[in-house]
Amino acid sequence: MIPVQGYAGKTIAVLGLGRSGRAAALALGAGGAHAVVWDDGAAAREAAEADGFTLRDLTKQGGFDGIDRLIVSPGIPHLYPTPNAVIALAWAAGVPVDNDIGLFFQSYATQDWGGFHTIPKVIAVTGSNGKSTTSALIHHICIENGRAAQLAGNIGRGVLDIEPAHDGEVVVLELSSYQTDLARSLTPDVAVLTNISPDHLDRHAGLGGYFAAKRRLFAEGGPDRCVVGVDEIEGQFLANQLAEGAADDRVIRVSSGQKLETEGWTVFARKGFLSEYRKGRQVASIDLRAVAGLPGAHNHQNACAAYAACRTLGFSPKGIEAAMHSFGGLPHRSQLVGERDGVTFVNDSKATNVDSAAKALQAFPKVRWICGGLQKEGGLDGVLPHLAHVAKAYVIGREADAFARQLVGCETVVCTTMAAAVAAAAADAESGEVVLLAPACASFDQYDNFEQRGDDFMAQVKAIIGR
Ligand code: ADP
Repeated sequence: MIPVQGYAGKTIAVLGLGRSGRAAALALGAGGAHAVVWDDGAAAREAAEADGFTLRDLTKQGGFDGIDRLIVSPGIPHLYPTPNAVIALAWAAGVPVDNDIGLFFQSYATQDWGGFHTIPKVIAVTGSNGKSTTSALIHHICIENGRAAQLAGNIGRGVLDIEPAHDGEVVVLELSSYQTDLARSLTPDVAVLTNISPDHLDRHAGLGGYFAAKRRLFAEGGPDRCVVGVDEIEGQFLANQLAEGAADDRVIRVSSGQKLETEGWTVFARKGFLSEYRKGRQVASIDLRAVAGLPGAHNHQNACAAYAACRTLGFSPKGIEAAMHSFGGLPHRSQLVGERDGVTFVNDSKATNVDSAAKALQAFPKVRWICGGLQKEGGLDGVLPHLAHVAKAYVIGREADAFARQLVGCETVVCTTMAAAVAAAAADAESGEVVLLAPACASFDQYDNFEQRGDDFMAQVKAIIGR
């Protein structure tokens, strides 16, 4: 745990009692603050009280009296579509609002770093898609290259839950737009943007607000190095704003698909090869086609971003390449489930938005596509140009009919359930084809989360292929 610095003897309120809220309350206590907690759900409050947390009703008159800060969990809207009522009360009471990420950056560096041989570094990764894969890959490359590393953030472990810094270690943080929007301190040594495509528009009142939230990671603390995916205009704008000129190598531009011609520091993937250029000369090249854990152009983008971040740590191209080969990938992202009679089954349940599903479709030549669920704002336009790869779409979800109607130019069948979709796709599939779950939707209409949806897919596949 990272004890929170700066609030000894103060009373700090924590709103939201999920994993990160509970970790924040404990870390505040470890730093000498008095943490009081609240959750809009009665069950969460009761469970927290039973576990020894001190409840404070923040909704009642005077609820914020004597409180120094409010720490909010990422799932709770702080602005759009409407601010949570407790957050609005904090504003009215003049209490600053922060989150665990802000507390982390305020608390990670400690006095004893003076005795360290090598100062620890924090690499923070944001973007619309590929954050988890890129973060996990950076972490893996660090470990394989003999550098102590910890992985936390949006990826499963609360940032305040990690161990206090070790000499020379690297902390890799995956940060969502909800987290970067609210944190009052954002000071990574290296900041990474994988890409930008529309997502979570309701929480940011549109694409502009969404990009602005991510941009804070680069603008607030002034990282030493910025790795910026420049395949969209937002990344191009950001890289331009951060760099003092073409040769400014504090900014590393990354692309999947384009050869980047600027004089500065670039890493790009084309036709399956990663290239690194610095000061106009090629420094290294890696054949990504041979890297089994990172299939498809989207994963090549992640590989480029991770490679660039690791180069800022001084790792050699060969050391990074070797580590990429032993990267197993993450569950529910381009995950190979099994094969039968030349048909491959791939679980990409994490493709919860249109862009990630479009990327998954492009990674395979002929696809039996299992899609549908709780549709996000913005429609399906982003995926329609990629339907040429789709032999047939098998639509699941409570609104499967409406989803299927939007897939113009593609043979579709309404299956509603995963079991029906897997059975139909497996029966139709021919050798060389891929049965791919890449829903382009959230899962909450039928499942608790995307992991449960992916697990259901895998169970159905295994029942059919007999493994
Ligand atoms: P995030 O943490 O940003 O959600 P993940 O690594 O978990 O990213 O991947 C989320 C989904 O997006 C998966 O379906 C994955 O296959 C797909 N994906 C991964 N990397 C990219 C990328 N660079 N561009 C587009 N889609 C991607």
